[in-house]
Amino acid sequence: MLQQLNSVKFKPGEDRWKWKSDNKGVFSVAATRNQIIKQHGIGVEEEWKYWNKWVPPKVNYFTWRVMIERIPVKKELIRRRIPMNNQLCSRCGIQEETVDHVICGCTSSKSVWKKILVWLKIPTSTEFRGCRETLEYVNELTGSNEWKKVIRTVFQTTVWNIWKSRNEKEFEDKLEPATT
Ligand SMILES: [Zn+2]
Repeated sequence: MLQQLNSVKFKPGEDRWKWKSDNKGVFSVAATRNQIIKQHGIGVEEEWKYWNKWVPPKVNYFTWRVMIERIPVKKELIRRRIPMNNQLCSRCGIQEETVDHVICGCTSSKSVWKKILVWLKIPTSTEFRGCRETLEYVNELTGSNEWKKVIRTVFQTTVWNIWKSRNEKEFEDKLEPATT
C-alpha cells in the first residue's frame, strides 16, 4: 500500500470525483447507459430509446431490461440451468412464465392494462403482447409529444408495478388485489 501511495501525485486545487467512462470525467446517466449497452454487447438497434426523465432511473433501466428480455422470469432462469420446481407463472399457474407473459399476457396483467387504458381514455380494444409493443404503441397515438410522455410515464410505471406485484406473489405469497 505504501508503494502505491508513493506514486500518488497531488495536484493543486480542490479534490473532485472523476467519472472514468467519460472523456471529460463528468458523470451522466446517458453515458452510464451507453456503457451498460456496450458491456452487454447489445446492438445499436437495442438501445433504449424511451429514456424518460419523469420516471426514476431504476424504472427506466428496468423497462429497458424488460424490452430486451433480461429479467429473471422462470423461463430465463431455467435456460441458465437454475433449478426451479416448474416453469409455470405463479399468478395464473397455467402458462409458461416468460417476460411477455408476466408483463402483458397473464390474466391479471391484462386486467391491469385494460384499466390503465380506460383511465387514460385510450381505445380499450388494444391488447398488448409485450413491453416493446406497449411502448411503441405510444408512437402511433395522435397527440402532443408532452402527452405521449405522460402516457409513457404511466406505461413504464405500470410495467414496474406489475413486476413488483409478481415478486410479492412469488416471494411473499401476497394476494393480488381483485382485478376483475
Ligand atoms: Zn400467468
